[in-house]
Amino acid sequence: MKNQKRPDSIFNEILSCTNCDLHAFCRSPVPGTSFTPGSLMIVGEAPGEQEDREGQPFVGQSGKLLTKSLGKIGLARSDVFITNVVKCRPPNNRDPLPEEVSACLPWINRQIEEVKPKLIIALGRIAASHLLDRKVKITKEHGMIDVLPLNEDVLVSIIYHPSYVLRNRNTKIEEDFLDDLKNAKEISYGTNADAEIRI
Ligand code: URA
Repeated sequence: MKNQKRPDSIFNEILSCTNCDLHAFCRSPVPGTSFTPGSLMIVGEAPGEQEDREGQPFVGQSGKLLTKSLGKIGLARSDVFITNVVKCRPPNNRDPLPEEVSACLPWINRQIEEVKPKLIIALGRIAASHLLDRKVKITKEHGMIDVLPLNEDVLVSIIYHPSYVLRNRNTKIEEDFLDDLKNAKEISYGTNADAEIRI
């Protein structure tokens, strides 16, 4: 990918972050992948065991599904910036606590400023709720587009988390997941005048 950029100052700051206690439990924070400015951004909840081991987001089972699904809509991992709202793995993969999310949010806000995406895909209820700063009902709102409260020029596409899709393979849920991803890609790339903005 041309012009790939790694914002090393933020990455290194995340690697040495002690804003909450999670850093003491995880092997290593997972700041995110490299990125091209302006690229589509994909945000999950928090690293799992495999991500914690490898220092890369979405490399476990749900990550493999995400990577395969991106391939089906014509995107490689290197075309997008992938990260999480929480950068350190919570013990036993529990949901991150509100104070852990609050302590971590400045990082994603800085990453959004740096990447300047037209659109962010929020994977699952937790990522969507924290990015949008409101409660999100994922079964009702998946496929919808909202705007980022901090910068209303940035669109947020609410999509199922791949771990939910993994538990519902070959169902309408998987079909919707792919349709929603494709719609988000087309809005982000401006490649299809029919791509729907459903707010
Ligand atoms: N689930 C997430 O939300 N993020 C990851 O990086 C991996 C699994």
